[in-house]
Order: sequence, then C-alpha cells, then structure tokens
Amino acid sequence: MYYRIQTTKPQQFINITSTVAQAVKKSDVQDGIAVIHVPHTTAGVTINENADPDVVRDMISALNKTYPVKGDYLHFEGNSHAHIKASLMGSSCTVIIKDGSLMLGTWQGIYFCEFDGPRNREFYIKIID
Ligand code: ZN
Repeated sequence: MYYRIQTTKPQQFINITSTVAQAVKKSDVQDGIAVIHVPHTTAGVTINENADPDVVRDMISALNKTYPVKGDYLHFEGNSHAHIKASLMGSSCTVIIKDGSLMLGTWQGIYFCEFDGPRNREFYIKIID
C-alpha cells in the first residue's frame, strides 16, 4: 500500500504508527510482519520514543551538530546533510505482527523522517502473512 505525506518543515519526524496499525488491521493478518519503506534519498524511517516530543527534537538537534546543514560537502545539490541523515535512519523498517497487532513497545512509535523538506513525500506499507 502506498501513502502520501506532506511534510511542513525542513527537518521533521512525523509519527506514522497509527497509519501502519490501521494497515495491519485492514489486512486481517494475525501473525506476520509489516515492512515500512520510504523511497527517498533525503528522508527515512525509524522507531523511537512516542511519549515525549522532545526526544525527536533532540535527535534532530544532535544530528545537526554532527552533520550540519552547511558543511564541507561536495554534492552539488547542497543537501548532503540530508542524504547522510536519511542513510543513518534507514529507508525501511520491519515490525512483527502478533495477534493482529504491531509488536511495538509501549514507548515506541514509527517515524517518517524528513531531512530536506518541506515536500510531498510517500511511503509504502507491505503486510506479509
Ligand atoms: Zn542531493
């Protein structure tokens, strides 16, 4: 399944857990895996804390300290920092489905990670039985 997402900031983590949970419910798969894939080179996907929004804010802040927006980069587009951060987060993640539910920890959420926004983006969810 294919989903569109509109990011609103240059760098932003958007919680997509409920979208993935709905896809699992709709699939009626009880035991399997959900694969979330982001087909972009300057955006990614990761799992991290869903309770305190300062956690994802701190992640972006820390990434910016290590990989500043402006740096000693050669890439002509001027968005090397975004390419690096996207690779660090990864372009896909997999979550186990058990008894029809995502096997996420209480404090875990699935985040679409924008590093070169705002843009119209997309991601895929594949549910495997
Ligand atoms: Zn580029």
